[in-house]
Amino acid sequence: MYLDSRRSFLKGAAFTVAGAAIAKGVFTTDAVAGSISESKFTNTPDSLSFYPPLDQWEDFKELDGADWKRGGIGRHGVESEDNPDGIKVNDFMIVPTACSNCEASCGLTAWVDKKTFTVKKYMGNPLHPGSRGRNCAKGYATQSQMYDPDRLAFPIKRAPGSKRGEGKWVRTTWDEAMSTIGKKMNDTLKTGDELSRKSIMFHVGRPNENGFTGNVWRTFKQDCFNSHTNICSSGGRTPTIQWVNDDRTSPDWANAKLVFLNSSHAADAGHYFQQSAGFIADARKKGAKLVVMDPRLSNSAGIADLWIAAWPGTEPAIYLHLVNRILNEDKVDKKFVKKWFNWEVMMNNQKYLQFMVDKGYISKVPKDRSFDSYLNMLKELYSPYTLDFTVKETHVPAYKLEELYDMFIWAGDAISSYFWRAAAAGNRGGWMSGRTGYLAIALRGAIGTVGGTFFHHWHVISVAGKGGSATVGQGKRGKDIPKVGVWNELSWPPEWPLSTYEMSFLLPHLLTDVEWQEKWKKRGLNVPQKLSVWIPRMYNPVWINPDGFRWLEVLKDEKKMELTFNLSPVWSETNWHVDYVLPVGLAGERHDQHSEATMPARWTSFRQPVMRVALEKSGWKASNPNRATLEAHIKAGLGEVWEENEFWFEMGFRYVDPDGSLGIRKMWESKRHPGRAVTIPEWYDAAFGDNLPNLKKTATTDTRYRNAEYPVYEYMRDHGAWMEENNIYHAQEREIKEDEHSLVSHGHRYDKHHVEIDKTTGVITAEAHGDAWKYKDGKKPIGIEVDGKKMEGFASLDKKMDFFSEWMADEWKWPEYAIPFYPRNEKEKEEMVHIVSHVNHKYMKEENSYALNTVFRLPYNIHTRSANSKHLMEISQNHDPVWINTDDAKRQGFKRGDAIRVRIVDSVSGLE
Ligand code: SF4
Repeated sequence: MYLDSRRSFLKGAAFTVAGAAIAKGVFTTDAVAGSISESKFTNTPDSLSFYPPLDQWEDFKELDGADWKRGGIGRHGVESEDNPDGIKVNDFMIVPTACSNCEASCGLTAWVDKKTFTVKKYMGNPLHPGSRGRNCAKGYATQSQMYDPDRLAFPIKRAPGSKRGEGKWVRTTWDEAMSTIGKKMNDTLKTGDELSRKSIMFHVGRPNENGFTGNVWRTFKQDCFNSHTNICSSGGRTPTIQWVNDDRTSPDWANAKLVFLNSSHAADAGHYFQQSAGFIADARKKGAKLVVMDPRLSNSAGIADLWIAAWPGTEPAIYLHLVNRILNEDKVDKKFVKKWFNWEVMMNNQKYLQFMVDKGYISKVPKDRSFDSYLNMLKELYSPYTLDFTVKETHVPAYKLEELYDMFIWAGDAISSYFWRAAAAGNRGGWMSGRTGYLAIALRGAIGTVGGTFFHHWHVISVAGKGGSATVGQGKRGKDIPKVGVWNELSWPPEWPLSTYEMSFLLPHLLTDVEWQEKWKKRGLNVPQKLSVWIPRMYNPVWINPDGFRWLEVLKDEKKMELTFNLSPVWSETNWHVDYVLPVGLAGERHDQHSEATMPARWTSFRQPVMRVALEKSGWKASNPNRATLEAHIKAGLGEVWEENEFWFEMGFRYVDPDGSLGIRKMWESKRHPGRAVTIPEWYDAAFGDNLPNLKKTATTDTRYRNAEYPVYEYMRDHGAWMEENNIYHAQEREIKEDEHSLVSHGHRYDKHHVEIDKTTGVITAEAHGDAWKYKDGKKPIGIEVDGKKMEGFASLDKKMDFFSEWMADEWKWPEYAIPFYPRNEKEKEEMVHIVSHVNHKYMKEENSYALNTVFRLPYNIHTRSANSKHLMEISQNHDPVWINTDDAKRQGFKRGDAIRVRIVDSVSGLE
């Protein structure tokens, strides 16, 4: 059917120029290819969802888009020796990868022109379960990032004799940089003391790596992993950690009846938004209602069935108003709540019940410990969140709150929501937004249901760091990597024991705060006063952190940061002040396994260097298999741009521990080819194969791969995405498998002799090893018995949804924040200052003072990694600098286009 060579292809083209297909504006290669979808030429496909079939990806011919404008082949024919003015035909190899311009990891495909070996365009990957062939503008902009004329094309280092920040650079080689850095790391690590294991610091930046570098640093025995998470999303993660010890929400947008967006974030401004928007559109086609809670009239809010603009930070009052009505109007899904709330834990904690009485939350301790008494207690607890109270506190009109409640009840247990940034991250105490919001959703039983809301660890694959069986030293899934066993106070300062993630933004302050260092040294802690190596991987704190100048001071101080290097594809303000800038690639120039919770399924994408894949498929071979990506990029004219996987494999094996005396070398030594570092195919074949049984079975039985040296790797190389498991609902109810001698929970087998079941709570525990999270008796919780059935339960200590966070109340001594709550009066606002937003109206007494929100924007510069895309810069810069409600504008006398002056006052400190 399809033509084998360019020559016969051109002949075929000439034959059918006059054929029927021309009438459709599409050229087909033979008479039987009657429909456009079967055509090799896709300039005017009859459907936007058209995509070349997988078996044509290595050789797909498409009419050149620019030439098509000249009138098409109907007028000009196809370009050939005999017809040089004909329409050009591109000969593509389509290579899958994954976008790296935000955390969604949508599938991409690079369309590599086989004649020039350049990527002509990036399109979606239709095999990706979450993005389904679609991308946002940032995804397609990958091509402009790849060929950015200003990108860094080779490693550079600070010119000898110059100072950091002077801007004097010299070109260097990867080998020189790695030798210098490796020696410095070796000198640090070989002292072997505690301090040495806190003196190298790595800031992960983005894109995600699903555990890869975390694994690198474990093998280097360093507690050095740092991230920006505490700035951007801890407030969104804390609620799920308190509820179920899970990291974040996982909504089933596509099947929801009520899509309940807490901010525009999920659908048009941030996390996973492209995939979420697609699923939300699917749900709306089926009749779902869309509610957007956002002070800004965002794109999502503009098309919502209901837009709720609460005063920033007061959102918890709305959720608790819903809770009040759900409880007192008998709309609770009692079956779910009785089965999955940790109500017994709370009713057994008399001390806490008395605390609630003392605080005036409830009038008396419940008469007994029954479920009915529990529900009655909740009714009383939340009855103060009346309509009047909520309208006054949130400034949302009553009719909107009524409408929201009606929608909530109408949707039953198909309410899909996502709590992340916006209210959660933008306000002091914003974490209470998710804590209260989940309560309203869970009371309706919309947890883990079709169209409901769930938690991410059921839906995410994280195996990038688990290729250990391909190495001499790590063991399967890294089981032989020794424990690090130190605590780095620079990323986890003792003053913030409840910080959900590393306090990376404090680093320059802690490094220079001698008083702070001395305080903890006197108490016996070994606090580092300097770093021997600091690695801000794709991270630019000088620009994105509010105290960038403080970072500059420390960056320039060679006594505080002795050696610094950035693994960075682009120039940045931070790069300007480091010792080495080592260029690594973006979406189409690096390997990563990447998965996110965008649907009730476990999918992963495989990000890979597309030119390397294209070259290898064309018969090219790297001279050094450990540097194949670097060599491929040089060959393809991208410069000496490398990737981090191969970089760290080599660092661990060859440079940090050259003689193996630190025990690191063997961790990265290839098991199959001892004497050299592990390679990409070896590592990912193990990482995918050891952890994803369905993928392994598919790859190793597929006739195309089963005889391949690395079948699982090669399967992923060719597909770019995989769905391990679909339709994952009610996962907490998964039964624990049992035989005569053992129980199997979450894939782990436990000897029955060491398993116990708590008679009151039903929690099933087993012997804990290492640093496992332990239940009351020091054992590890592995499941729960409910109504005689042993199930895996949630990931919390008591395996249920923790309405009552006992560890927060009893161990950490924050009882007032151990349940979902919002201050009901001025006195409580004074007492519970940690959960009153810094922009609460109580702080805004000055006439004409407003809470200033950042405006909606296309997040073109997420984590600065897309900073080199001029295309994105241009399309994102046409927003008005200030949006204001038209009523407010009228009152102030502002007209569109006026210049206005904004005076910004920190409502807590009073600083202007
Ligand atoms: S949503 Fe994110 S991952 Fe998807 S295409 Fe856009 S930038 Fe890339």
